[in-house]
Amino acid sequence: MSWDYDTTTKPCPCGKGLIEETYGSNDWGQTSYHRKMLCQECLEKENKEKALKEERHRIAIKKTEEAVSYFKDKYFKDFKERFSNTKNKKDIWTIACDLGVENSSLSKFYNYFKSKDEYIEEIIRWDNLKKVMKNMGINDKELDNLYEDAYNHKKPFDDEFNAWAYRRAKGK
Ligand SMILES: [Zn+2]
Repeated sequence: MSWDYDTTTKPCPCGKGLIEETYGSNDWGQTSYHRKMLCQECLEKENKEKALKEERHRIAIKKTEEAVSYFKDKYFKDFKERFSNTKNKKDIWTIACDLGVENSSLSKFYNYFKSKDEYIEEIIRWDNLKKVMKNMGINDKELDNLYEDAYNHKKPFDDEFNAWAYRRAKGK
């Protein structure tokens, strides 16, 4: 297959240099885009911002992990006990759904479920932590603060991802 490329330039943000943009397309209607910052000053600024953003992301992830491990340290025993009277897989699934840690249909659950202990050990994650806290009726100021702090740090990244996923789904 053959690709056609079209290269244009436009001014960089500081106005002292250029950004080179290359648009490609082929016979199958596929497209490509490549952007090259030719201005050294802007390039350094972009790299620095990228590094800072990566650092913020790393901190956000660490905070979510801290909230989850705080929960596990303090409430995992109680969480586990809720499953103590389960007699079969369906019982486990029902309780997990009630606690807000399971969204899969029962048949899907049957497919990936291996062992009760393993399942319970791994099911609490950042994305369902809030639901578990609520459904277990936990009232813990320190946990609330940890959650809130992690949520606020992670939100910009989630928003960005959602916007990207939305554009992608719309084919933009
Ligand atoms: Zn520049």
